[in-house]
Amino acid sequence: AENRVMTEISGPGRTSDGHAVKLLANVGSAKNVPAADQAHAEGIGLFRTELLFLDRTSEPSRDEQITAYREVFRAMAGRRVVIRTLDAGADKPLPFLHQEGEPNPALGVRGLRVARQRPQVLTTQLAAIAAAAGDTGADVWVMAPMVSTLAEATEFAAAVHEAGLPRAGVMIEVPAAALRAADLLRVVDFLSIGTNDLSQYTFAADRMCGDLAELLDYWQPALLQLVGICGEAGRAAGKPIGVCGEAAADAALAPVLAGLGVSSLSMSPRALSGVRASLARYSYAECRRLAELAVAAPDAATARKVVS
Ligand code: PEP
Ligand code: MG
Repeated sequence: AENRVMTEISGPGRTSDGHAVKLLANVGSAKNVPAADQAHAEGIGLFRTELLFLDRTSEPSRDEQITAYREVFRAMAGRRVVIRTLDAGADKPLPFLHQEGEPNPALGVRGLRVARQRPQVLTTQLAAIAAAAGDTGADVWVMAPMVSTLAEATEFAAAVHEAGLPRAGVMIEVPAAALRAADLLRVVDFLSIGTNDLSQYTFAADRMCGDLAELLDYWQPALLQLVGICGEAGRAAGKPIGVCGEAAADAALAPVLAGLGVSSLSMSPRALSGVRASLARYSYAECRRLAELAVAAPDAATARKVVS
C-alpha cells in the first residue's frame, strides 16, 4: 500500500491498472525547470519559446536562441522536451513582426502562418534548436502552433527534418486540423492538442473574454469530441497524442482525456500531483467508459457529473 501511495505522489502517470499517460510540464524558460523537477514531471510537454522574442524590436540572434534552448535541454537530459516554434500574433503580439494592422488578429497571421511571410524566422529557430540539442542527451521533439492543413504540416515536418531534428509534430488548435488528425499523422510523428485555442476556435469565443467562460469550458462535449477524433487517429497510427492546454491541468478531466486516447498531459507543474492522483483512481476501461459518457452528454455540466 505504501508503494502505491508513493507512485501516486511521484511515479509516472498511470491508471490503476497500469495504462501509461505521461505527465509532463509546461515551461517558458529554464527558470521553470526546478518546479517541473520538484513535481516529478516525466519531461517537458510544452516549451513556449515566445519569452525570448517578447518586448524587442529585432529577432533574437541564433546564438542567443541556442543558449536559451540549451539550458532547458541540458536540465532534461534523458527526458523528452517538446519545444514549440514561435507562436506570435493574437494574444501574443510581438513588436518585431509589426502586425498591429490586423483587424482580427486571432484569425490573422499568427503561429506557423508567420512563416509564410518570414520563412527565415522559422529556419533560424529550427537551426538554433538543432544546434542546442547537440549532445545534451534530451529527447527533443519539435512542434508548430496554429496548424490548419495537411500542406502546412507537411511543409513544417520537412523543415524540421531538414534542420536535422528527427521528431516533428503539430499542435491541434484549429477544428479543421482536429477533423483531419488521421491525415496529419501520415506526415508528423505526434500531435499536441492546445485546448486553449481549440476551445476558442471551436466555439468562436475569444479566449481572453471572461464573459464567455461557459463556452470555453473544457468539459464542453463538442471539444471533447474533437479530442476523441485525435485520440482515435493516434491509436490507429500508433503515434502519441498529447494535451498541453489548460484542460490538461483539470484533475477530474484526466481520466476522460486518457479514455479519449490521449497519451500525455502537459501542464503547469503545480497541477501535476492532482492529475497523477486522479488518473490512478480509474482503470483504463473505466476511463474509456467515462470518455464515452462525457462526449455523449448534452452539455458541459452533465459531462462533469459523469466523473464523480
Ligand atoms: C493552447 O492554445 O492550448 C496552448 C497550449 O497554447 P497557448 O496557450 O500558448 O496558446
Ligand atoms: Mg495556443
